[in-house]
Amino acid sequence: MLTGKVAVVTGASRGIGREIAKTLAAEGAAVVVNYNGSEQRAAEVVKEIQEAGGKAEAIQCDVSDFEKAGELMDHVIKTFGRVDILVNNAGITRDGLLMRMSEEDFDKVVTTNLKGAFNCMRHVARQMIKQKGGRIINISSVSGVLGNAGQVNYAASKAGIIGMTKSAARELASRNITVNAIAPGFINTEMTQVLSDAVKEGAVAQIPMKTFGETKDIADAAAFLASDKARYITGQVLCVDGGMAM
Ligand code: NAP
Repeated sequence: MLTGKVAVVTGASRGIGREIAKTLAAEGAAVVVNYNGSEQRAAEVVKEIQEAGGKAEAIQCDVSDFEKAGELMDHVIKTFGRVDILVNNAGITRDGLLMRMSEEDFDKVVTTNLKGAFNCMRHVARQMIKQKGGRIINISSVSGVLGNAGQVNYAASKAGIIGMTKSAARELASRNITVNAIAPGFINTEMTQVLSDAVKEGAVAQIPMKTFGETKDIADAAAFLASDKARYITGQVLCVDGGMAM
C-alpha cells in the first residue's frame, strides 16, 4: 500500500500515465496528475480518482521547460508537503527515417522525453534527499533497448533515459532513493493507435506473446517499483513487453 505517499506522474492525462496515476491512487497515494495540453482529460482523471475515494490534483506543466518543471515541484511540495514517488512518463514521438528526419523533430523528441525526465528528477532529488527516501520511475521503451527503424530520435531519448536512470541510481542509492526504468513494448494507447495496420502486424510478429500489452501491465509494474516490496531494487530496466527484448 502507498497510503500517506505523494506521487507525481507526468503526462497523466492519457494512456499509460493515466493508468499509472489511477493505480497509485488506488494503492492510497495522493497523486499529482501532470499534463501539458489536455486540461479536460486531466480533470477527468482527477474526478475518477476522487470518485473512487482517492486524492488527486491536476497541474499543467510542459516538463521540457526546466524552470516550469521546477515550479511544478515547488507547487507540489508547498501543497502536499512532500514527494515520495516521481514517475517520468510524459513522452512523444515524431517518427521518420534518419535520411528524412528534421533537426526540429530530433530536438523536440529528445527535449520532451529525455530532458523532461532530467528536469523533473533534478528538481525532486533535493526534496527526496531531505526526506531520506524516494522512488523515481522513468518510462523508457523497447525502442531504447533494441533500437527501431524510423525512431532515431525516440530511441535515442529512451536509451538516454536508461543511462540517466542508472547514473542517478548510483548517485542516490545511499540516500535510500531508488531509480528504475520500465521499458514497455507495444502498448494499446493513442501513441500506437496511429500506426498503420501493416506496422502493427509487423510489430506483433516480433512479440513472443503475439499481442500488444495494455496500460494496466505498465501501471502494475510501476506500482510494484513504487512499493516497499521493491525496496532493494535500483538501477534496473524492467521490460514489460511480452518478451520482445529478451
Ligand atoms: P500518449 O497516449 O500519447 O500520452 C502521452 C502523455 O504525455 C499525455 O498525457 C501528454 O499530455 C503527455 N505529454 C506529452 N508531452 C508533454 C510535455 N511536454 N509535458 C508534459 N506532458 C506531456 O502516450 P502513451 O502511449 O501513454 O506513452 C506514455 C509513455 O510511455 C511515453 O513516455 C512513451 O514514450 C512510453 N511508451 C509507450 C509505448 C506504447 O506502446 N504506447 C511503448 C513504449 C514506451 P497532454 O495530452 O496533456 O499533452
